[in-house]
Amino acid sequence: MTVKFGTASEKGLNASYNPLELEKGIREFWETNRVQQKLEFFKEKNNNGILGYVEGPPTLNGIPHVGHARGRAMKDVHYRWKTMQGYYIPFWAGWDCQGLPVELEVEKLLGVKNKRELLERVGMERFIQECKKAIMKYHKEWVAADTKLGVFIDQDKAYWTYKDEYIEREWQILKRAWDQGLLEEGHYVVAYCPGCQTSLSSAEVGYEGAYKIVEDPSLYFKFRLAGKRDEFFLVWTTMPFTLITDTMLAVHPEAEYAKVKVKDEKWILAKPRVQPVMQELGIEKYEVTETVIGKSLDGTGYEYPFKDLVPEQAELEKKHALVHKVILEDFVDVNTATGVVHQSPGNGEEDFFAAQKRGVPIFAPFDDEVKFTKDAGFFNGKFARDTDTMVIEELRKRGLLVSAETLKHEYPTCWRSHHKLVWLARKEYFLRTDKINSRVLEAAEKVNYFYESPKNRFLSFLREGKPWCVSRERVWGSPLPIWKCRECGTETVVASKKELLARALEKAPADFELHKPWVDRITLKCEKCGGSMRREDFVLDAWHNSGASPYARFTDEEFKKFVPVDYLTEAMDQTRGWANTLLLEYVILTGKAEPPYNSFLLQGLTQDARGRKMSKSLGNIIEANSALEKYSADVFRFYVLRKCPPTDANDFDPGELSRRPYQVLSTLYHLSRFFAENSEFDGFDPLKHTLESAKRGKQLKNPDLWLLSRLQQTIETYTANLETCEFNVALAALEDAVIEDLSRLYVPMVRKELWSDDPETLGRRLAVYSTLWHVLKTVTLLFNPITPYLSEALHQNIYRRLDPSLPETVNLENWPKPNEELRNKQVEEDFQTLFNIVSLAYSARQSARLKRRWPLSKMVIVAPEKKLKALKNVEDLLLELTNVKTVEYAQTPPREVGEEGWASATETDTQAFVDVHRDQKLLGEGVMRDLARRVQALRKELGYKPTDVLDAVHIAELDKETTQLLQPYLPEMKELTRTKNINLPTKREETATEWHEFQLDEKKIYIAIDAERKEAADGN
Ligand SMILES: [Zn+2]
Ligand SMILES: [Zn+2]
Repeated sequence: MTVKFGTASEKGLNASYNPLELEKGIREFWETNRVQQKLEFFKEKNNNGILGYVEGPPTLNGIPHVGHARGRAMKDVHYRWKTMQGYYIPFWAGWDCQGLPVELEVEKLLGVKNKRELLERVGMERFIQECKKAIMKYHKEWVAADTKLGVFIDQDKAYWTYKDEYIEREWQILKRAWDQGLLEEGHYVVAYCPGCQTSLSSAEVGYEGAYKIVEDPSLYFKFRLAGKRDEFFLVWTTMPFTLITDTMLAVHPEAEYAKVKVKDEKWILAKPRVQPVMQELGIEKYEVTETVIGKSLDGTGYEYPFKDLVPEQAELEKKHALVHKVILEDFVDVNTATGVVHQSPGNGEEDFFAAQKRGVPIFAPFDDEVKFTKDAGFFNGKFARDTDTMVIEELRKRGLLVSAETLKHEYPTCWRSHHKLVWLARKEYFLRTDKINSRVLEAAEKVNYFYESPKNRFLSFLREGKPWCVSRERVWGSPLPIWKCRECGTETVVASKKELLARALEKAPADFELHKPWVDRITLKCEKCGGSMRREDFVLDAWHNSGASPYARFTDEEFKKFVPVDYLTEAMDQTRGWANTLLLEYVILTGKAEPPYNSFLLQGLTQDARGRKMSKSLGNIIEANSALEKYSADVFRFYVLRKCPPTDANDFDPGELSRRPYQVLSTLYHLSRFFAENSEFDGFDPLKHTLESAKRGKQLKNPDLWLLSRLQQTIETYTANLETCEFNVALAALEDAVIEDLSRLYVPMVRKELWSDDPETLGRRLAVYSTLWHVLKTVTLLFNPITPYLSEALHQNIYRRLDPSLPETVNLENWPKPNEELRNKQVEEDFQTLFNIVSLAYSARQSARLKRRWPLSKMVIVAPEKKLKALKNVEDLLLELTNVKTVEYAQTPPREVGEEGWASATETDTQAFVDVHRDQKLLGEGVMRDLARRVQALRKELGYKPTDVLDAVHIAELDKETTQLLQPYLPEMKELTRTKNINLPTKREETATEWHEFQLDEKKIYIAIDAERKEAADGN
């Protein structure tokens, strides 16, 4: 025999696991052979069922980071796994293109500061073109990351939320809302961003990170009671500008209010607040003269102090009797501030409702930039928050100011631009989702969220059930499809481009599209009065845009086939975002209490290694593309899924990738190569040498039966945990199968058998190969959803090479199912006992400093009958693994082990005793094994494969005693090291060869290997 290099199995798999290189090759294979397209085409034609899917569209205003990549890996896991189970999934991409985030990005690019400048300097047409350009730039980055990550999403079938055909279908949802009376125009108090110059939905106000610590005035001031010279209500506010729109004062009806004498004045405030407020104001001399119940203050008038500055305020008093009067409201909290709350219905939600239910007019004199209009008199043209200091000054002049300090507090800011939000009563369009809240909740209850806490968070958010403000005063968005008659006020909702163009009074230009400004140029004729109808100048909330996707991205036929979709997964912040709007729009569309998705996994955030949020300001964002150029996609995918439950925050630490995750994949890789090399050497043919044939030939032994049985449990546990999205638990089972079952336990049990090339034992070796073929191939399939590159590489280079009838891609293989016939509870139990005893024997050895490689003559096991029976079933292995020659069993310790010369270890009801005495024979065998181990290490280091047969091994400078001990074991050593000759020269000089130094029990020895290196004749 000669040394064989470059056997067939080596063609595609390098000696070392280099995942980046491997992945590049597989990517080329997928692309050249159009594997992804073929897979989709095949499953569409041949499947066991359809699982609908709609892509949660990434917003194209930024570059994907590792957190996005983690989420996309979770989507791909589901796709590949369910596809292997035989389902067809329309795994088609989608992109969120419109809305404020994109507009702000483009404004920045164009160097525009606000909307007015944008419209004047840039113009809408050009702005729309720039928005389209901007999203394409980011689109490239996202596709590149998907490709590297190995995500098999169909990019050709992607939907784009800005396209006319998508917008038309979004309009149809609004039309459904309109027909059900759920789309309304109304004055409402909305959160408004002065920077972005648009209102925000209440969901947006609650976004993580929206609340910031800001500095505001902290103002105590007085309102004089009407007709009293020295009686006042004491009021506190952080927003002095709201005094300009002040309309009423609210007190709690049941609470006690005190009249407090301060100098010559009487101040009214909530009784529990007297002491703390006086202390805060530094007033030591005061006296409570009277206490009244809030109720008794009902209707008390007060003097609005700025009637000279804001003449409209005097007009308001004429319009409604309650203007500038005290009202009773339960929402008043008498444990903060003064318990007397000034009401600005134009600037506060509760204030607005309080005014609305009493019919009190809403005074909101603001323009789009939140500047006061001429109705605000003296304050005309001033930005609302800029009047804070003016108001304070005016109060001071009038002797009404008590104290003006500043305070830092948490205040909501715009999630995009971080301007302080202002609450404003504005004319907006609302989806009255509050009216269908019970149906929405019922639908949400039917969804599987996999984990309790995201479910509870989502449901409690939905319970708020507020109306959804869907109008936005912006440009780059789906236009609100409402046209309103300028004469009689009649409104109509248009539901398609065709309908719009058919009803248009003017011919649409060639470049017409469903965007501003084109769509605003279309006027319709009022059917009621013949007047001209113009579009209401709003675009839709971008969340409405993306939330329409389950309907808008499909055709009618596809919608019927794919929705409700089976499984969605998005980041936790989509609780208030996409998860919410999908549900609301679907309930509106169908009118039913049904969700558009059967399950929804909300993922935890990805943070940096120190557990901090990734942010631009910290500079700790790890971009997906640069990370995937540096680190393997397979290792990345395994790492992010294995590390923690998907709902937990994941502290992404690049340093961890190369540790355990790499080790697991590398072990699978090398086990597979080990199998391939050995089996090929013995001419293993998977079609001929099957498990069945091995069984028939009675060649399957206990280790094989044990491994096959363990595999069934692995399949079961793994699949069950994928079903419940416990990816980390699933992967722990898979990791165990590779590291424990295969690498640490099974291979050491059979390695010696594989080592032989005796034709007499070929049948046994083939049985081991058929076991390894079955187990490793199955494990490779189980890994495919997680590590698609590695699984494909093993499929192509090992399994498909040995069995060309296998499918063209690993993705076309079937998902493994547990095979009950291969389960063997008895063997598993016996082996569990065996492994426990083996480690007990190791402990006993350790206590006597006896290396595991040194054979011992005798061991005594003391254990209950049942355990002993199990051990007798696997006695060969017990002797082999513990490296002793004979074993005795007993239920109580025999007398001999109590004497000198025994080492022992105990665990509960079990004891292992080993005979520490080693005679010449045992010493010789021990030396042989020590040396054999060093030869093996050297073989590996020099690049020999396990199947290579060496011409000679030389071991020099052993002392005389060792050489004598070793002599009888040379034949066995030859076999162990696959060597034809072993030479033992006393001096190195006796043999001209390349020596390598080793240590043997404090002494230096030298080993050399001779082999005739020949290229294999098979064309390499
Ligand atoms: Zn903003
Ligand atoms: Zn009309």
